[in-house]
Amino acid sequence: MIKIILSSLIVIAGLLVWSFSNQSNEGTGTDSNSFISDSTKKQGAQMSDKIIKSDEEWKKELSPEEYRILREKGTEKAFTGKYWNNFELGTYVCAACGTELFESDTKFESGCGWPSYFEPIDSSRIIYKKDSSYGMIRTEVICAKCGGHLGHVFDDGPPPTGKRYCINSGSMKFIKKDKK
Ligand code: FE
Repeated sequence: MIKIILSSLIVIAGLLVWSFSNQSNEGTGTDSNSFISDSTKKQGAQMSDKIIKSDEEWKKELSPEEYRILREKGTEKAFTGKYWNNFELGTYVCAACGTELFESDTKFESGCGWPSYFEPIDSSRIIYKKDSSYGMIRTEVICAKCGGHLGHVFDDGPPPTGKRYCINSGSMKFIKKDKK
């Protein structure tokens, strides 16, 4: 009889621990993730090495312009960023966490003044969030690993996807590839 009671208690304790750990996982999202759908939350959560840092830590690591864009959802002026007119062969990585985001062979001349790509390297590296700021309905593009704001994605891109990922130069670093 005592054995049955003990094993029941162990099961109940296990269930309690499990439910608490689930709650705390959901609570670790940053503010910018709070309106993301469940599927994109899961998408981001699959990256077990998700980076969460305080504003002070990011300020130390990023340049003022990188911080303004990535952590405060800033936007660089059109035709002023370092990559809108860069068409060299290479990979664009997140300036905050180094995640490889876009390849140069998906970059196209959109005429909008920001680096534009028709698709990311892997959509699981991106979080998509509805953005209703400035009287517009847009889809914000966020780095899934560090939660940094990258830019927006629009439906006026070229084939094969029809998408235009309009990304701030200041949210990325370009890693040039040597031609073989
Ligand atoms: Fe990142």
